Amino acid sequence: MSLHLQTPLIASRPLSLASGQEVWLKLDALQPSGSFKLRGIGLACETFAKQGKRRFVSSSGGNAGIAVAYAGRCLGIPVTIVVPQTTTERARQLIAQENAEVIVHGATWHEANELALSLLGGEDAFIHPFDDPLLWQGHSTMIDEVAAAGFKPDAVVLSVGGGGLFAGVCEGMARQGWDDVPVFAVETAGAASLAAAMAQKQRVALDSVKTYATSLAAKQVCQRAFELSQSRPVISHVLSDGQALEACERFLSDHRILVEPACGAALALAYAPSSALKQYEKVLVVVCGGVTATLDQIREWRAVS
Ligand SMILES: *Cc1c(COP(=O)(O)O)cnc(C)c1O
Repeated sequence: MSLHLQTPLIASRPLSLASGQEVWLKLDALQPSGSFKLRGIGLACETFAKQGKRRFVSSSGGNAGIAVAYAGRCLGIPVTIVVPQTTTERARQLIAQENAEVIVHGATWHEANELALSLLGGEDAFIHPFDDPLLWQGHSTMIDEVAAAGFKPDAVVLSVGGGGLFAGVCEGMARQGWDDVPVFAVETAGAASLAAAMAQKQRVALDSVKTYATSLAAKQVCQRAFELSQSRPVISHVLSDGQALEACERFLSDHRILVEPACGAALALAYAPSSALKQYEKVLVVVCGGVTATLDQIREWRAVS
């Protein structure tokens, strides 16, 4: 049995009224770990467990780390997560509450990741947050669920960090024969690594990333995500942190679900569609979720952005 749940697909009255389109929501915020990440990470962890791995190691202080910790607890396999000092107390607690070992090391994610890699023994599995075909395979199941519900969208809206969600959704869409359906790939201005790659027609590493949508803060998208952006209809959309944060509060009020700004970014485009998105009648928004930002935190950020 898989570790993730089949999530609800609902037509959103508030979003449809706001956008003037039919807006449908795939509610992956309702996964037990609080984000879509459990789909891919759950599959990866199950696969590594079958291969005889005895420990899972990760360097994500975000939803990936939380999903690894959740998967390890469910599978009875110990988990070690190395996070940088910048990781919030809340994220550390969420990982620790799944019984995972949390090691705080280094000022940046890079240093934490180096230590995590140095800890790896032969019986350990390293779980990458976005760049692994197993992850994409796991994420792709959300599209199979949408198709099984008898729904085919005219456009799909999702957020892009390192591009694992995007790669997985495109994989599912290809399997369903939806290669003609465009994907609107949303990023915040301080972390627009896919937009940069698409503009330059090659994968580029940003010098720095700065956004309150912390789960989108990847300096470079994975190679697979870049390839997909060149080989199927993809429309890049970049918006501000303020728009993503506002969408979080609006979505909480409309649907009673709190999501991170990383997810608010996709919702913001659905609340106020671009002229390119307006052309489509039935829009599917991937509500990717995320649990590392409290409402107080979102309001604090909104006040200063
Ligand atoms: C990881 C994550 C993303 C971005 O996913 P990528 O696979 O890195 O593109 C978006 N939103 C949330 C809540 C996430 O946890």
